[in-house]
Amino acid sequence: MKLPAATLSTDNGLDIPVEINVRHIRSRYRITISEKGARLTISPSLVTESEKILRKHAGWIRKHYQSMRNSVLDSNLVDGSVIFFKGERLTLGISEGDNAVSYDAGRDVLQFCVPDKDPENVRDRLRLWYFSQSANFAKILGARWCCGSGKFRIDRLVLKDMGTRWGTCCSRQRIITLNWRLILAPDEIYEYVLLHELAHLKVPRHGKDFWDYLETISPGASVKRSWLNKNGYPILHFLSERRLSPERIM
Ligand SMILES: [Zn+2]
Repeated sequence: MKLPAATLSTDNGLDIPVEINVRHIRSRYRITISEKGARLTISPSLVTESEKILRKHAGWIRKHYQSMRNSVLDSNLVDGSVIFFKGERLTLGISEGDNAVSYDAGRDVLQFCVPDKDPENVRDRLRLWYFSQSANFAKILGARWCCGSGKFRIDRLVLKDMGTRWGTCCSRQRIITLNWRLILAPDEIYEYVLLHELAHLKVPRHGKDFWDYLETISPGASVKRSWLNKNGYPILHFLSERRLSPERIM
């Protein structure tokens, strides 16, 4: 069920559209932010309190919506732009020629050769390249944790284009889904998200027992979690104007 949309205004006169959805969820309510605005998902028992909840979190919503908008606007990728890959700051080089990509870790340069330097074409090529790099790394991690002597049994590992989440776990079907943009973050952060989702196979909810268990398989989990909270916005919105189809990794 959907309630009539609301708006929140910001200091600079920008209105943030707010969509309100009512459905049964684990937590009492959840707020997510995207380029389109904020979405409040709320349990049926709290419907009459939606306005109060929005007022309570208005500051948080404004702050994150602004920072998200800024990071999306900054993502104009041209020759010489700074670009992230596996937690490293790289310089993006764009040249014209046959399709080729070279990553020179020593020089911190990611060199893209494209037949057509049209920005949209470059962005499409970059998106595909990042996705394939992410698939390779997800395969390595999947083999480490979920195959043979790996600690976890899963049925499927899927790499997906997700706008607001890093990963999901469907424990009933034993399917783990990861956001391909994790390849922009350091390797240990990528691995942390996989382990976080795998931990949900044993402990479904985010209670103390969940965090305690996660710490045993991913030491320093809370530090990695804060890293994502602090640095996640530009990553979640990297090349996000177009979506890629999910790909099964394992
Ligand atoms: Zn979780």
